[in-house]
Amino acid sequence: MPAQRMYTLTFGVEYVPKSLSVPGGGSHTINTPIYGALVETPDGLILLDTGISRRALDNPDFLTACYGADRYPTAPAGEPLEVALAELGFGVADISLAAVSHLHLDHTGGIPLLAAAGVPVAIQRDELEYGRQRAASGTEAEVAFHRHDYLEVDDIQWILLDGATELAPGVEAIPTPGHTPGHQSYGVHLPATGDWIFAADAADLAENLHEHRRCGSCAEDTDTPLAQESVEHLIALADARDARLIPGHDPIVWKAIWHPDGGHR
Ligand SMILES: [Zn+2]
Repeated sequence: MPAQRMYTLTFGVEYVPKSLSVPGGGSHTINTPIYGALVETPDGLILLDTGISRRALDNPDFLTACYGADRYPTAPAGEPLEVALAELGFGVADISLAAVSHLHLDHTGGIPLLAAAGVPVAIQRDELEYGRQRAASGTEAEVAFHRHDYLEVDDIQWILLDGATELAPGVEAIPTPGHTPGHQSYGVHLPATGDWIFAADAADLAENLHEHRRCGSCAEDTDTPLAQESVEHLIALADARDARLIPGHDPIVWKAIWHPDGGHR
């Protein structure tokens, strides 16, 4: 059974060296949107990735550690998740289930809001375990994990995934480890436009997919072969399904697939 409709969500913009996205990509800065998707299904609204939190945006020390002093991300005033949902006429409490691709700060920012609203959050078990290990050794900021999003929050209803999982009719989690140990991508199947695959940070840019290039940074240096396997898996899966394969931080692709009025069908 397909999902019913899909909206694209923009949470902010990051300014990062291209080498973060493509190995050897150079130190020049590229402007990359932070984005997610909201999918209407027979089981309710499913949120795929949650953006960056206001708390992180307002913490210069943390931003400097993650991005460098001259490369702070930007977002509209307020909580980026709430702003993006409000543009569609929704609130956090309207969501039935959320998922995070991985625990980087630009994907976890909405978790505290979701926890407060009683919305469960799906994540690969390996990712949460890694995030907890990093926090236990006080090194989570070194890999750009924001403990205030995923650790120091009351009542997060985690749904721990072990591999590929259907999250709702027409929405699935696709494990793509490497960028982080439990990274996942998403598949969405819609009635009119068919299959979509959201790579998230397994492939930031279309270039990663055209050139079969893994992501430029892995939380664990030894995971680069896994990252390459994940890119190959996504390309093969998209070929097999004739899917639209959407990179995770590509400004040109993102504008090109912005949803029409009423969402993608
Ligand atoms: Zn990331």
